[in-house]
Amino acid sequence: MIRRSFLAALAFAAALPLTAWAEAPLKVVATTGMIADATRQVGGDQVEVKGLMGPGVDPHAYRQTRSDIVAMTRADVVLWHGLYLEAQMEDFFRDLARKQTVVAVAEGIDKSKLRAHDDYADKYDPHVWMSPDLWREVVIEIQDTLTEARPEAADIFAANAQAHLAELEQLQAYADQTLAAVSEQNRVLVTAHDAFGYFGAEHGYEVMGIQGISTQSEAGLNRIGELVDTLVDKQLKAVFVESSVSDRLMRALIEGAAAKGHDVGVGGELYSDAMGEPGTYEGTYVGMLDHNITTIAGALGADVPERGMNGKLSAGY
Ligand SMILES: [Zn+2]
Repeated sequence: MIRRSFLAALAFAAALPLTAWAEAPLKVVATTGMIADATRQVGGDQVEVKGLMGPGVDPHAYRQTRSDIVAMTRADVVLWHGLYLEAQMEDFFRDLARKQTVVAVAEGIDKSKLRAHDDYADKYDPHVWMSPDLWREVVIEIQDTLTEARPEAADIFAANAQAHLAELEQLQAYADQTLAAVSEQNRVLVTAHDAFGYFGAEHGYEVMGIQGISTQSEAGLNRIGELVDTLVDKQLKAVFVESSVSDRLMRALIEGAAAKGHDVGVGGELYSDAMGEPGTYEGTYVGMLDHNITTIAGALGADVPERGMNGKLSAGY
């Protein structure tokens, strides 16, 4: 018995890359779950990542807690999204950046690829994770940042990033194919807030949010009335709720349509600005998007694989 576990331990030690012995992991703090996941994918065992915003947390409204501040000041690298996503934390990050390595990972995306913000003339729609093609630029930015922080692990980061970018390519292909299977008149996505602008533009879907690009904007009664009319006019069958936004307004919309004699159902819950539970497939970036793509296409009438592109969706469609 003893001999066997000793041999097993030896085999295990031999399988570990040498660099894992050399240094403690880089401490990285990331704001959103999507950034935390990309950092884990690229960093592997070279990083220890703490994500500040868990499932169901709205980044537009989030403010740093006392323990977040402690974690960030002790971190080797702090990653935030930028593009005015973490609107309540901007000043904090600009301040922190004077003292340590703080990178807004989405700020480097070529501005010509970004969509305008509907509330601010000089800002952009921050929801770039909705497109795997755009998100790859964020992954590369994270790779560059980690490489700068730990140049001796450059090869490891490069290999991990390549593997993850290949997954993103597969995800983009699945999105293109699955969403194109929805009939053209059904390509309308009604959601709680405008998180799906890039998604809509990429796949030719009309996207209508009750609230604007930020959940902090007020949805007026006029907006609800307008959307009710659209639902009735277009005879849309499904609207979608979001895991990080209250569904109160969505209920008002469904009731409004019902009062006009049109039955609308909830097509499913989408992950807009936060991922699913840690440790689940939906708690990863790929799983989050797989869930959204499969749920949207399925609810709008396309044939979809019941458990998504990897057969891993827990709820299934
Ligand atoms: Zn949002």
